[in-house]
Formats: sequence, structure tokens, C-alpha cells
Amino acid sequence: MVLADSTNELLKVDLLEDDLLSVAGKIPLQRVALKAFADTGIELLVRRDDLIDPELSGNKFYKLFFNLRVAREQGFIRLLSFGGAYSNHLHALAAAGKRYGFSTIGVVRGERPAQLSPTLGDAEAWGMKLIFISRADYRDKNEPELLAELRLRHGEFYLIPEGGANLHGALGMQLLGQALEQQLKGDYTSVCIACGTGTSLAGLAAGIDSTKLALGFSVLKGEGGLGDAISTTYRQLRASDVTANWRLITGFHAGGYGKKHPEYLSQFWQDFERNSGISLDPVYTVKMFWGISSLVQQGYWPRGSRIVAIHSGGLQGRRSFACPS
Ligand SMILES: *Cc1c(COP(=O)(O)O)cnc(C)c1O
Repeated sequence: MVLADSTNELLKVDLLEDDLLSVAGKIPLQRVALKAFADTGIELLVRRDDLIDPELSGNKFYKLFFNLRVAREQGFIRLLSFGGAYSNHLHALAAAGKRYGFSTIGVVRGERPAQLSPTLGDAEAWGMKLIFISRADYRDKNEPELLAELRLRHGEFYLIPEGGANLHGALGMQLLGQALEQQLKGDYTSVCIACGTGTSLAGLAAGIDSTKLALGFSVLKGEGGLGDAISTTYRQLRASDVTANWRLITGFHAGGYGKKHPEYLSQFWQDFERNSGISLDPVYTVKMFWGISSLVQQGYWPRGSRIVAIHSGGLQGRRSFACPS
């Protein structure tokens, strides 16, 4: 499935909100019938944000959008952010820098390996300057001292937190939520997304109608301060008298972030791709769909529910993982 003549529709987006809303409003919603759904009277629609662009895929583009805009408005020519060797975020940032005329710096955890991961190989080929720092320094990534030193060495930059996790990031996802609401004219019951930092969940929940529920499937083993972070961001986007319309679901991390899949997850992944024809990424979307499928089997949703699942992209990460063929 390809997005009708829109493969490079993003190329036409000049960081204007109307443009993004228009692209977001054309993302296809694909009905998927999984085994778990038979006779349950539940409908699943997959929103194919993985198809939005071959290089700048999924939720990462939405999270970068307002950051790029603000950086341009404030006259920055350079963007800096943080990530690991397989980071969808750094990959998207490098692509965005190339497309929108920013130079980019990616600060990566660990030593530079003899051979770069495919992710970082792309990023470097697209012009991103890669800086490798020790794990200890990486832990200090939000400390003013480290940032000051980076500025001294590499020049002034607009800082985007790891994963694009800031309010501008959430604003882009809020727009996705608004586009979805318009596309379906409110005719759905809940929307699901995979959760890392939770920025996407907070934005999405604030974008859809407050009577609809946004469910976030966490891929992290420890919950840490995730719920608090989501709550804070959500409250910045939506008036305080609105009852929070999001839930964090924590039972489907399958061992934790980026870990080797247990056998049951590999099996689910293979079956899902075979039955739906939709490719998933190993870190995020496969766990969300496994979670959705399990909840359906547990009778979590009533008959007649119409559930939307956001395919948040990340398919570039398949190159570094044993995937179903
Ligand atoms: C980064 C990412 C997420 C998680 O987004 P957050 O806003 O950090 O919660 C989900 N899916 C994919 C494919 C991602 O790359």
C-alpha cells in the first residue's frame, strides 16, 4: 500500500500548520481483521502514519514539526539532539535537517563503532554530524555544563530533547489527533499508540475529542515518572477542567526497551504481518499491536468498539533486527 501520489507530499510542507493538517488529514485508515477480533464485534483501523514519508516517518515528523518551525523563526541554523545507535528520532532529525536546510548534530551514547549502524549511517550520509560521548556524560545530557561545552565546541544550536520530548513535540501530535477526529467525524471509540517518552500520547489525547480515550502502550519495563510526564504535558495542552482522556498501559513491554523478543512476541509479529500485510517496527508498534490483540482476547473492549491504532513508523529500525520475512 502506498500513499496515493503523496510519497513526497511532505516536501511541499513548508512548516505551516495548515500544510501539516492537510497532510495529516490524508493518511489512510486501513481496516485490519486479526484472529483475535473474530466474533468480538470489534473493528480495528490502522492509521498508516508510517507511510507519511520514506525518510521522515511516523510520529517523529509530527514531533519535530513545531520544533523546526520555532528554530527557523528564532534564526537558528543548527539543531542538536540526543539518541542511541538505532534512534528513530536522530534518523528523522537528520532527514528533516537535510530537507528544511538546517545543519544537524546528533549526540550518541557510547563510543563510535568501527561500523556505524544503518540508522547512523543514513544520518551521517544526510549530513548529520555525529558526536559520541561516554555513557556517564550521556546521563548528564540535560545538564547546563554539558550543553555549554557542546555550544563552545560546535557553535550555537537549537536544542531538541532526546526523542523530541518537549511541548512543541506534543503540539505536533495534537494536530495529528485533530486530523484523525475530522477524518472519522468522531465515529470511533478509542485510539492507541506505542509509548516511549509519552510525548506522543499526551499530544494525541489532547488533540482528539475529550469524550474519546487515548491508550498508550508503554514499551519500557519500569514506569518511572512516565505517567507524571504525560500528565504535565497533557495539562499544558488542555484546559484543567477537562477530565484526562488518556490511560497508560504497562503490561506489554515484553522484557523492556529494545530487548530481544520472547518467542511469543516473534510469533505474534510474524502472524500479524502475514495476516495484515503491514510491516511493524521491533521496538514500538509490534508491542502495541500485541497489547491490543491481548486486550481484545481479554474482553477489555465492548462489542461495537471501533479502535484506531496509530502506526507510528520506525521501520528503518528493522534493518538492525531479525524480522519476519
Ligand atoms: C519514538 C517512537 C514512539 C514513542 O513516541 P513517544 O512520543 O516517545 O512516546 C512510538 N513509535 C515509534 C515507531 C517511535 O519511533
